[in-house]
Amino acid sequence: MISYLYTLSEIRTTRVNRRRMSRMRNRVIILGSTGSIGQAGLEVLAGLASDCRVAGLAAQSSWNVLAEQARYWKPEAVAIADDRHADQLHAAVADNTQIFSGPQALVELVEQIDCDCVLAAVVGAAGLPAILRAVQLGRRLAIANKETLVVAGSLIMPLARRTGAEIIPVDSEHSAVFQALQAGHPAEVRRVYLTASGGPFRTWTVEQMAAATLDDALAHPTWNMGPKITIDSATMMNKALEIIEARWLFDLDPDRIRVLVHPESVVHALVEFADGSVMAQMSTPDMRTPIQYALTYPKRVGCPSPALDLCKLGRLSFEPPDAERFPALRLGYKVARVGGVAGALLNAANESAVELFRSGEIRFTEIAALVEQVLGRHEPNPDPTLEQLLAADRWARNEVTRCTTC
Ligand code: MG
Repeated sequence: MISYLYTLSEIRTTRVNRRRMSRMRNRVIILGSTGSIGQAGLEVLAGLASDCRVAGLAAQSSWNVLAEQARYWKPEAVAIADDRHADQLHAAVADNTQIFSGPQALVELVEQIDCDCVLAAVVGAAGLPAILRAVQLGRRLAIANKETLVVAGSLIMPLARRTGAEIIPVDSEHSAVFQALQAGHPAEVRRVYLTASGGPFRTWTVEQMAAATLDDALAHPTWNMGPKITIDSATMMNKALEIIEARWLFDLDPDRIRVLVHPESVVHALVEFADGSVMAQMSTPDMRTPIQYALTYPKRVGCPSPALDLCKLGRLSFEPPDAERFPALRLGYKVARVGGVAGALLNAANESAVELFRSGEIRFTEIAALVEQVLGRHEPNPDPTLEQLLAADRWARNEVTRCTTC
């Protein structure tokens, strides 16, 4: 069943936050500022300069790009998780820029630098502790990092309800669901449709996919994204992760979540209500649109992404997904139903398997097969702690290595 996402006191807290935001410039921290979403976030912030200010920037290891960003944006602080580059970063940024480095750097940035909104764009599960801290502090979380909810949705969503932290999705499909849901009441939702481009292998046979090269998998037909998510899009593991993400974000029964293959990537999601009305959110496939909406919500302002020209497009097409050719989809539903540590296992096993494919050690079709193998070998734990989730993550990574070397 779909439940109300906010209690009355939480709605009051949210209203206070909104009034606060409308009075002052919105201070934003970007976790993962050097990746593709982080860079798109900075482009959006350039257009919102009179309303927003960059308070902090953080990266895993790309110290030179981070330093360049810091010199331009002049944030109060920067953070780098890989402390081998701390000295180089110190030398490259202004003296009055505070620097956090080491494994706790992102958490320290969120704790010590005041902000209204954290744009979470770190690839993979690495940003989890800092994201949890932002939610604990009641910050608005513009969440582009789907792995966070896949791994720890069972911890983050109840925590956000307690602290009043708004969680606004940036993933294009979930931003679309979030927007379409405003046309009705959560209890009136019959189904949610997440669209998928189908990726570069939409029309390929299993045999063709088994022989696919890294370049084949990186040739996404519509979206320009980082390599990990582009490969996830080719296996459709990205959609599996998004089914789990939607289950947590919108408190949806997985049976109400459907996937629709939509090669044009213009309709990002649809919400079907009890009366049969279907609300779709459409825009050109450009991440700057959902990033900006998460930063300015509930306001809408002009955006640098090109306007949608439906006449030029001519037609929009939809087809059912093929779970036989893309077994990752079945895994997504399975994990969304099981919950507990299953999301952490799926995510970690997938990250490891994608790495093995990128380094040429396994074939493309072995990615989903390895993830399924690892999922089948772990005992379920329905109500895990953060430590147990992180332990499951480590176990799954080791298990992928073990499965490929034995
Ligand atoms: Mg997406």
